[in-house]
Amino acid sequence: MKFATKAIHAGVEPDPSTGAIMTPIFQTSTYVQEGIGKHKGYEYSRTKNPTRTPLEKNIAALENGQFGLCFASGMAATDAVLKLLKPGDEMVVCNDLYGGTYRIMTKVFEIFGLKAHFVDMNEPALLEQYINPNTKLIWVETPTNPLLNLIDIQEVAKISQKHNILLCVDNTFATPYLQNPLDLGADIVMHSMTKYLGGHSDVVMGALVVNQEELYQKLAFIQNACGAVPSPHDCFLMLRGIKTLHVRMDRHSQNGEAVAKFLNENPKVDKVYWIGLPNHQNHDIARKQMRGFGGMVSFTLKGDKIEDAIRVMESFEVFALGESLGGVESICTHPATMTHGSIPKAQREANGLKDTLIRLSVGIEDAQDLIEDLRQAIDKI
Ligand SMILES: *Cc1c(COP(=O)(O)O)cnc(C)c1O
Repeated sequence: MKFATKAIHAGVEPDPSTGAIMTPIFQTSTYVQEGIGKHKGYEYSRTKNPTRTPLEKNIAALENGQFGLCFASGMAATDAVLKLLKPGDEMVVCNDLYGGTYRIMTKVFEIFGLKAHFVDMNEPALLEQYINPNTKLIWVETPTNPLLNLIDIQEVAKISQKHNILLCVDNTFATPYLQNPLDLGADIVMHSMTKYLGGHSDVVMGALVVNQEELYQKLAFIQNACGAVPSPHDCFLMLRGIKTLHVRMDRHSQNGEAVAKFLNENPKVDKVYWIGLPNHQNHDIARKQMRGFGGMVSFTLKGDKIEDAIRVMESFEVFALGESLGGVESICTHPATMTHGSIPKAQREANGLKDTLIRLSVGIEDAQDLIEDLRQAIDKI
């Protein structure tokens, strides 16, 4: 089956008791057993729930994987991956990554004896020097937030396979529509489904997808033992959201392109970061491992005055100011004061993150309205 058909049908069967085409919300904690050990595959909803099962099959199919697991949030999914490790184990992690991932690795799991090396993976060969017999996990996020750097997954997978280390890729920004890390050699795909997969800014949820049965069993054990599972109602909303993922992503990509081209020609704009622009530093990797370029666009203003960035953001009428991304509505974020405010200015700038950087999650409204909104807001400075 091709992607659009899988998005709508994979894992989903009409309800056998009624024929309902939409998977019902099985709002139940437990299941009546006909006798000791005689049940229909469901015993308790932390372990399995009939609204969650189709969703887990669906996300697995979209990632070309065998097994899917859904969690109460993206961070809960990451937490389960890290619990595969034990005290003394080490991981090599890309240095440009979601702040919450950095936080759980350093502030939570360091206490339990895990060590993370945060490394620039622009040159995958260089990460080999951080590998030693204790290294058990390589963690990659691509594209990254907010500078939209890309890491070559196939090149990193060659190294992880050579050393027999698990490779996990956070595929939140790309979505399975644009990129499939398992096909490129990753062992685990992680998603914050909160973003594009849900797509309507109304659910917080995470997922893992794997191909190896043994790895799946270990992660399913952790999921059930630790218990960070999503509610049946949230699973229903997620199933509903995913049905339009391909349509939304096409429009996000089209609008992303229109916005990036407009910004690229605006005299007050300094630099535009959109992975579809031929002058983007990793455009060749985007062409190699992705099927489209998405709706995440960042840009800086000439003069590098933080007041200018704030003025622009406070002048938007269509773009809402807020955190998060991937919804149908356009959102703008100011990384220097919002998502990356805890990083000292000198370090932020060393990483290439200027105070005037504005990150846009370009939604699926009319592109002309979005461009007009950007024009009038930038004209205010
Ligand atoms: C949002 C996000 C997460 C965390 O997911 P939650 O659903 O918020 O827990 C992880 N990685 C990336 C890239 C994200 O954008």
